[in-house]
Amino acid sequence: MSQGWQKCDDPSCGYTTRQVPLTLQRGAPMCTSCFRAHLHPAYSDTALYTQLLYYSRLFDYEYALKNSKEEIKKLPLDKRTATPFYTAVHSTVSRVLNANGYSEVNLSKLFSAFFAVDK
Ligand SMILES: [Zn+2]
Repeated sequence: MSQGWQKCDDPSCGYTTRQVPLTLQRGAPMCTSCFRAHLHPAYSDTALYTQLLYYSRLFDYEYALKNSKEEIKKLPLDKRTATPFYTAVHSTVSRVLNANGYSEVNLSKLFSAFFAVDK
């Protein structure tokens, strides 16, 4: 993970820092090295969400078992030693995913431009 690193969006500068400058220009912090560009998180929230979705699918034991070969499905339950681990990781990732704002879509806000607002 990035651990709070900010990176200048000008590739010729490439300045990275963990300090967020207090001077904002058009809502984004200015790069304190080149003063031409803005600082952005080195690891974006979209990338983090995509990574969590990947982990959620990767450790979904029930989904994997449903789509696996017949001889694996016939394996007795006591031979499936990794089941508690996968279930624990999947439930942890699912809990984090359900707690963030990307998992909810506000339809009235999304389509508000298409409908007149009654006041
Ligand atoms: Zn810069």
